[in-house]
Amino acid sequence: MTTATKKTLVVLGAGTAGTMVANKLRHRLPKTDWTITVVDKTDIHDYQPGYLFIPFGMNTPEQIRKTKHAFIGDGVDLVLAEIDKVDPGAKTVALTDGRTLSYDYLVVASGTSPRPDQTPGMLGDEWHKSVGEFYTYDGAVALRDQMRAFKGGRLVVHITELPFKCPVAPLEFTFLADDYLRERGLRDKTEIVFVTPLDGAFTKPVASKELGHILKERNVTVETDFMVESIDQERKVLISYDEREVPFDQLVTIPLNMGAEFVARSGLGDDLNYVPVDKHTMQSTEFPEVFALGDASNIPTSKAGSVAHFSVEIFVENFMELIAGKPMTHSFDGHANCFVESGGGKALLLDFNYDTQPLTGTFPLPKIGPMTLLKESRANHLGKLAFRHIYWNMLLPGRPLGLPPAMSMSGKIPADA
Ligand SMILES: Cc1cc2nc3c(=O)[nH]c(=O)nc-3n(C[C@H](O)[C@H](O)[C@H](O)COP(=O)(O)OP(=O)(O)OC[C@H]3O[C@@H](n4cnc5c(N)ncnc54)[C@H](O)[C@@H]3O)c2cc1C
Repeated sequence: MTTATKKTLVVLGAGTAGTMVANKLRHRLPKTDWTITVVDKTDIHDYQPGYLFIPFGMNTPEQIRKTKHAFIGDGVDLVLAEIDKVDPGAKTVALTDGRTLSYDYLVVASGTSPRPDQTPGMLGDEWHKSVGEFYTYDGAVALRDQMRAFKGGRLVVHITELPFKCPVAPLEFTFLADDYLRERGLRDKTEIVFVTPLDGAFTKPVASKELGHILKERNVTVETDFMVESIDQERKVLISYDEREVPFDQLVTIPLNMGAEFVARSGLGDDLNYVPVDKHTMQSTEFPEVFALGDASNIPTSKAGSVAHFSVEIFVENFMELIAGKPMTHSFDGHANCFVESGGGKALLLDFNYDTQPLTGTFPLPKIGPMTLLKESRANHLGKLAFRHIYWNMLLPGRPLGLPPAMSMSGKIPADA
């Protein structure tokens, strides 16, 4: 085939999902017939779960940052440019540098980002100081310095609104902060407050109960149903729509998360710039040649790397069927697999999907484990630490992990049975 007659797949975003899908499909699509182009605004690839550990000195910034080029396989074109707009009718992508890319199929994998600008008073002189966050590299590094300088007082961990990526991360931060302050002899001088718009610790009732117990054990005050209206940086208070006030000495906030602005400009997004898709195939509900993978879509499960991983595997199989003119027969079940660091060198593991609440049992092997579900264990913590290595060396290059994408029920028991 000549270049003119080759088919083109364009992937928008070279983060977790975009990198995996480009590398996996490069192994499956003949180079003579298919061009794969990935676009990203930056050549920096961060292992985002590592942001959680930076404020506590458990990861150094250097350990979680590499170049994107290192992970984009041979035969995939990486274009470093900002995406301006997609024209789904013309099947083109306009870049802000004036270039235009044409596609036959498009994968939107542009993720979700914290948007502190969306909450009045969040940005200001105290941003990345007494108003901290760990959802960006710069925020995590600044918070490390804040935590080092913290001498006690009110440490408030706060969730602005759902959905946000890695919904367990604020709980993990709270548990690790409890540990960190104990080790430094500051826990007695610190009140830790967990402020959430939910009516409990987490979205899933079974896990919420378990995680709520741990918060209680750690003597964390929980302020529920708190919809933040604004932050007063001068008075150091969070203010809710129903006029409650939560004072802080150090705030650690999870700002509103939103999909990329170009998604909105392209008419591809919902209110929060997420692409509406069929939750089983990740195909756009409006444009059949457009798919959204990873955090960029509106599927009703956690925004997490594990979801990106499992759903990419389903997508690749379906895509091969689609381009062969067959119906797509694989269905994503919403499978998420989330480690929850609980401090003291332990972690829990949550395994759930669209229809099934987190269960108890073992993972990945029934009865053997070595990981335990919905229960704290050392093996889970070690699994979480090992994942960084797996991410760089197996997941991003698109190598098989040996974990089936669908949630297995084998050896698992409902928590309330
Ligand atoms: C603190 C924290 C802890 C986490 N812990 C875990 C965990 O323990 N387990 C887990 O499974 N997940 C975890 N996650 C979530 C996980 O990192 C994300 O779900 C995952 O990275 C999503 O992948 P993605 O490809 O959808 O988006 P991303 O990896 O964010 O990639 C999106 C890419 O799109 C690019 N992009 C966006 N807009 C544009 C534009 N206009 N032009 C060009 N390029 C653009 C970005 O530069 C980026 O490279 C955590 C996240 C955070 C922040």
